[in-house]
Amino acid sequence: LDVIARVEPRVAAAIGAELHDQRESLKLIASENYASPAVLLAMGNWLSDKYAEGTIGRRFYAGCQNVDTVEALAAEHARELFGAPHAYAQPHSGIDANLVAFWAVLANRVEAPALEKAQVRQVNDLSEQDWFELRRELGNQRMLGMSLDAGGHLTHGFRPNISGKMFDQRSYGTDPRTGLIDYDEVRRAAQEFRPLILVAGYSAYPRLINFATMREIADEVGATFMVDMAHFAGLVAGKVLTGDYDPVPHAHITTTTTHKSLRGPRGGMVLCQPELADQVDRGCPMVLGGPLPHVMAAKAVALAEARQPDFRDYAQRIVDNAKALAEGLTRRGAKLVTGGTDNHLVLLDVSSYGLTGRQAEAALLESGIVTNRNAVPQDPNGAWYTSGIRLGTPALTTRGLGTAELDEVAGLIDTVLAQTKPGTTKQGAPSKASHVLDEAVATRVSQQAADL
Ligand code: PLP
Repeated sequence: LDVIARVEPRVAAAIGAELHDQRESLKLIASENYASPAVLLAMGNWLSDKYAEGTIGRRFYAGCQNVDTVEALAAEHARELFGAPHAYAQPHSGIDANLVAFWAVLANRVEAPALEKAQVRQVNDLSEQDWFELRRELGNQRMLGMSLDAGGHLTHGFRPNISGKMFDQRSYGTDPRTGLIDYDEVRRAAQEFRPLILVAGYSAYPRLINFATMREIADEVGATFMVDMAHFAGLVAGKVLTGDYDPVPHAHITTTTTHKSLRGPRGGMVLCQPELADQVDRGCPMVLGGPLPHVMAAKAVALAEARQPDFRDYAQRIVDNAKALAEGLTRRGAKLVTGGTDNHLVLLDVSSYGLTGRQAEAALLESGIVTNRNAVPQDPNGAWYTSGIRLGTPALTTRGLGTAELDEVAGLIDTVLAQTKPGTTKQGAPSKASHVLDEAVATRVSQQAADL
């Protein structure tokens, strides 16, 4: 930090403050973690200075031999860890990984047949008329994904994201009585809508998905089956999710982030079956800017860590801790979406405390408990204010907390929410103006949170 402080002390101060904040608070954001020093150091070095557009052994720049080494290592570790035929380590984020996957499917299933029909090798050789037809066809494809309020992600075809502008989208939700995915309903929707891509994966669904069943549905309607395992990749890597619940053998294409339960650097990755490999490898420069070699080095290190036997133990403890948190909250009278959890996250419906998600998020933050608000299925407060709080255990598990501590955390959350009074506006802003939290409680909870 001294080196940085000599150039821009405010940046050094912010980095130091971030370390302090992350140590002092209870990090319960389900998509966050603590990367190891080896991962962090692999990111802060001279690999950052290298341009390497293209892919391993086929670059648009000279002198990429060391980048080739780290990218190949990241891909090799990913293939071995997940049992995937092909891995692509370049995506800069989860959104980018999904874009690469969407384009690979479009290229494979729409563009390649059009080129074949026109008997040309590349799009530049198409006549104006055929090019026009192909673009129209590319823009005319359908995607079926999980609805946002059931826990799906914005990149699964929703209008505020580019995926919703690329595809005609329809979504499947969850059963309003159980909160669980109803596979018969997914099948009905798929048969009626006939999507090119069926997407499974979520940001806020606290249960397992049967990927074997989803693949059967995709096959019945001729869809490419894509899984976005961004949230639960660590549980797949740690062999907690196996058989029908392991997406990789069932999906044609699987995307992930590397920084959530997988505990690597911020970034993304694509795994796929051989028939999509060529198109996936064209991710840069098709939809990605030049690769980040330093981040790929950190991905290789994180994946090597995840191949160690103790990562399996870590992944199991994430789930045990989430269950302890869910049970602790339920025992104290809280209402959980689906009544519990099978994975790394818990979705707490805070309406029984008389709060919106936004008010609950603010009150918890004041007490040193960092969470994020999240819509619950059919949320009456919409996606901005919400009625839920999403809680995840990957980060606290990395810090060494166990089931007894997670039960204590449940108690702290319940205390804070029970002591918070909604403010004067029905859906107030995340400040003291929107809710009233007894300061003595905030101080006590924040001290206990720091002690944990
Ligand atoms: N996919 C899912 C399921 C996610 O939960 C997220 C992020 O929260 C993403 C994709 C996007 O990841 P990133 O923020 O790295 O672009």
